[in-house]
Amino acid sequence: MRSFILNENEMNEMAKRQPTPFLVLSVDRVAENYAFLRKHLPRAGIYYAIKANPHPRVLERLASLGSHFDVASAGEMEMLHKAGVDGSRMIYANPVHDARGFSAASRLGVRRFTFDDASEIPKLAAAAPGADVLVRVQVHNSKALVDLNTKFGAPLDKALPLLRKAEQSGLHAKGICFHVGSQSLSTAAYEEALLLVHHRFLEAEASGMHLTDLDIGGGFPIPSAEGLHVDLAAMLEAINRQLDRLFPHTAVWTEPGRFLCGTAMNLVTSVIGTKQRGDIPWYILDEGIYGVFSGILFDHWEYPLHCFGKGRKVPSTFAGPSCDGIDVLYRDFPAPKLPIGAKVLVSDIGAYTTVSATRFNGFESAPVLIWEDQADLVAKSRKTSENDKASESCLAQMP
Ligand SMILES: *Cc1c(COP(=O)(O)O)cnc(C)c1O
Repeated sequence: MRSFILNENEMNEMAKRQPTPFLVLSVDRVAENYAFLRKHLPRAGIYYAIKANPHPRVLERLASLGSHFDVASAGEMEMLHKAGVDGSRMIYANPVHDARGFSAASRLGVRRFTFDDASEIPKLAAAAPGADVLVRVQVHNSKALVDLNTKFGAPLDKALPLLRKAEQSGLHAKGICFHVGSQSLSTAAYEEALLLVHHRFLEAEASGMHLTDLDIGGGFPIPSAEGLHVDLAAMLEAINRQLDRLFPHTAVWTEPGRFLCGTAMNLVTSVIGTKQRGDIPWYILDEGIYGVFSGILFDHWEYPLHCFGKGRKVPSTFAGPSCDGIDVLYRDFPAPKLPIGAKVLVSDIGAYTTVSATRFNGFESAPVLIWEDQADLVAKSRKTSENDKASESCLAQMP
């Protein structure tokens, strides 16, 4: 799985069309990531968790590919509705539902819900009588970057009592879901969870409750700044084999967020100020932690930074433009000397970034440009990569 990364030329061409800071989103890359998941995890249907990046072009593209969607609020349902997606293709996967969410769900035809506590059952039964429900269970994974199992998930031994209770309230108990935590670097977490959930499926069957659906959540990782050497295809295929073995007749779903859009977006930002603090050069950029770099705080992420200047690299600090001391983005980053006006590129910044950006200090949100709309640049880039391929194959043919 490759990341979408503009080269220096492309970055500069884009910067002629749009003042920095701006984002460049490749919807083809999102589609390729979707195809990758379908190929290596063919057992699972996809609910894209739109909280990762609900850009309308992402939603439209995934909708056209047949994706389903994971939503958590009325606002997210509305975004999908605007993109032409019917409620029957959504799961309201926030285990605690609010009145606005219920009302949007009933208006737009969302009939599938998750929950993880008994207190939610009368709410669901009243607002969405007869709806399909999955109980979310708690799973353990020390190898995830973002933990989701402190706040979410019923204890595993409560899964069946909760589903029975839901049935008694007129809801349709469909199955079990879990989320191993985001940016999970371990297949073992999925495999362990599948084994445990499989037991519950057998127990349910023995007690006369037939569960038909399993939702293994999201969490699939993308390469990060630290350099991740996980064989993603192998990871997904291992999960797929386990699904075949344990759940041959169950409808299986996933809820990827980060995986589909994380590698599909770049940020172009400029040096707007410099200072020397002790031995360390500081560069102030026109985008910061209150903007799309918010993921550094909320998502515990470090985004790959690309500096194009020449010359000796020295450990440098990069900071954002706001008047807060917390707005420091990179420390000890080996960078060449950069003048004011120099542009730098940040890749893998497509998930959990624009969505949590604020307008703190009055800085405007960085606009999103779609790479595939820049027909001339895309054509040039294709030609270059074809030439590269041609010269590679020439090399390969050399004796
Ligand atoms: C956030 C979330 C996801 C997506 O998680 P990723 O780690 O981005 O794949 C999926 N399902 C639920 C319920 C979530 O809250």
